[in-house]
Amino acid sequence: MCGIVGYSGYRDCSDVLVGALSRLEYRGYDSAGIAVFENGKIEVAKCKGRLKDLVAKMEIDGKPQGNVGIGHTRWATHGEPSDINSHPHSGEKVTIVHNGIIENYKVLKEFLIEHGEKFLSDTDTEVVAKLLGYYYKKNPMEPIVTIERTIKDLEGSFALGIVFEDFPDVVFATRRESPLIVGVGENESFIASDVPAIINYTKNYYLLDHDEIVKLENGDVTIYDDHGDIEEKELMTADWDMDAAEKGGYPHFMIKEIHEQPTSINTTIKPRIVDGMPNLEECSITLDKIKSFKQIYIVACGTAMHAGLVGKYVIEKLAKVPVTVDMASEFRYRNPLVGKGDLVIIISQSGETADSLAAMRLAKKLGAKTLAIVNVKGSSIAREADMLIYTHAGPEIAVASTKAYIVQLSVMYLFAFELALAKGAITQEQCKALTAELQNTPGIISDVLEKTLEITQYVGTKLVATESLLYIGRGLDYALSMEGSLKLKEISYIHSESYAAGELKHGTISLITDGMPVIAVATQSDLLEKTVSNIKEVKARGAKVILVAREDFEIDEEAYDYLIKVPKMQDILMPIPTIVPLQLIAYYTAVHRGNDVDKPRNLAKSVTVE
Ligand code: GLU
Repeated sequence: MCGIVGYSGYRDCSDVLVGALSRLEYRGYDSAGIAVFENGKIEVAKCKGRLKDLVAKMEIDGKPQGNVGIGHTRWATHGEPSDINSHPHSGEKVTIVHNGIIENYKVLKEFLIEHGEKFLSDTDTEVVAKLLGYYYKKNPMEPIVTIERTIKDLEGSFALGIVFEDFPDVVFATRRESPLIVGVGENESFIASDVPAIINYTKNYYLLDHDEIVKLENGDVTIYDDHGDIEEKELMTADWDMDAAEKGGYPHFMIKEIHEQPTSINTTIKPRIVDGMPNLEECSITLDKIKSFKQIYIVACGTAMHAGLVGKYVIEKLAKVPVTVDMASEFRYRNPLVGKGDLVIIISQSGETADSLAAMRLAKKLGAKTLAIVNVKGSSIAREADMLIYTHAGPEIAVASTKAYIVQLSVMYLFAFELALAKGAITQEQCKALTAELQNTPGIISDVLEKTLEITQYVGTKLVATESLLYIGRGLDYALSMEGSLKLKEISYIHSESYAAGELKHGTISLITDGMPVIAVATQSDLLEKTVSNIKEVKARGAKVILVAREDFEIDEEAYDYLIKVPKMQDILMPIPTIVPLQLIAYYTAVHRGNDVDKPRNLAKSVTVE
């Protein structure tokens, strides 16, 4: 997923393109680039990194000067993020930006190489650029015919912004599957992947249908249908303002993404459930293939590692296979006893986490099989793993991960169910029942969101002046409290530790002082009594207890100060609804403290250094 834009008009095109791209950066942010006509020639500026890196580069190198051009913010699918792989890409007399994936790019590339083309990048996009050049040579000065002919050969998805050297005032565009809109202003026109990109120039736009081609020349917009005939289309008018569009009406991406969790889980698990049973065949996972694993390692960093901790509990409980969870940065340097017959699961939102990638390479070298759970398509970890489950959270913009975590959990469950079945540790019926309950989680999360927004906001006001606090829980609740604690640390900058509730008395309980907040998680029926005893121990020493507990548990009111109730599910699935109030507590506390919630200090979304 990425963002494309294009402009033909009278303004400084580089500025228009960069401004428009900044409002599409949520769609992709590993590289950016623009191509602008300068004195009749196409000038390209592009580089790996964020849009601001491109802006910095242009400050040094000079920005292309002109009034017509195209731009791109990339989310790499084919070819690593690099300067060379950044868009725009060029063919003979033509330069393009592309959002989507050309599925048959290999065949086309071979064909073009046979015809003497040379490729600079690893992208599928460059194949389209070269193919346009190839057909343009056969149809000189016929851009529409060239585009029509070219897209006939393409399989997959694309939104393309195209400029031909021979048409210096004109931007062409076309699309199939990937989104594209055409904005119309006074003596200027635009293309963009989404309306927010252009909304501060014009609210009027056309929606382009599959395989339609559009030609923009200043304020003149001509749309051609898939037979090459000019057609009249209905002009649409956007009736919302810029800010609401960018964050869908939410004040921060983080809260927007928290609300997207039900949809993210649905999109992730739905295609992997067939006749009520988990089916991971599209991920190269079959019962036969996984039944022989004797040991499992889950290796990841940060939030993804916390998803792995939940996975450990679930896999061990259901499939009875021993699981070790490792931080990727530690795994490599402790000479892990991994080898043939073992499975190493790597979890990474971005699929580019350097520590995790290196850990995966080591595991492969040692003879283990690897399974990647990754959100970003075509990322390094995704490409190199033996088995691959994509999570479908969509792009996550807030640095503090929420929806990516919850889909990692949902995938861990599906895998655990499948493994338990493969091992004969659960019956078909039990597997079906578990899967059905997993399918209920999106609805339950929506319910939790509705019911806990107010109380978590209130709790946030109570934590705002806190310097230090503890999270406690047992079993799955402990794994979850680690994630709750990390979320709070990341965005509120409040010092926080997470402890296994039973471990407190072996040292950490000495930290409890009068009025110190303790967030306790109690959702596991078999551990309830013990957890409540631990909660009472901290309460007796002056702690202010915020208890997150299953709604049907009867807990002595004296044990807590604030109670946040979570709907009942089977114990094993409780982490999914329970993480939501913990995310909300972190979010509201950070908001009340006036922090930059989406871009917390010192952090980056995807950690590609060791
Ligand atoms: N497939 C293209 C690439 O990897 C475009 C990806 C995108 O939509 O950003 O460069």
